[in-house]
Amino acid sequence: MLSGELIVEERACKNCHLITRKDKSLCPKCKTHTLSDDYSGEVIILDPQHSKIAKYMNINIKGKYALRVR
Ligand SMILES: [Zn+2]
Repeated sequence: MLSGELIVEERACKNCHLITRKDKSLCPKCKTHTLSDDYSGEVIILDPQHSKIAKYMNINIKGKYALRVR
């Protein structure tokens, strides 16, 4: 059995930090091609209007976001 293998199925946008499926080549939010496998931390924003994290990260659309994208 394989263990310790990290299979990345999602990528994060370097521009807006939105996490999207790896089979997408374009960020659905900001329409850029700056998707990266190399991200850390995940935050799910359900209510951007009332979320402090959303405000801090300048997010106005609900979804899953990466805290750090390299
Ligand atoms: Zn984006």
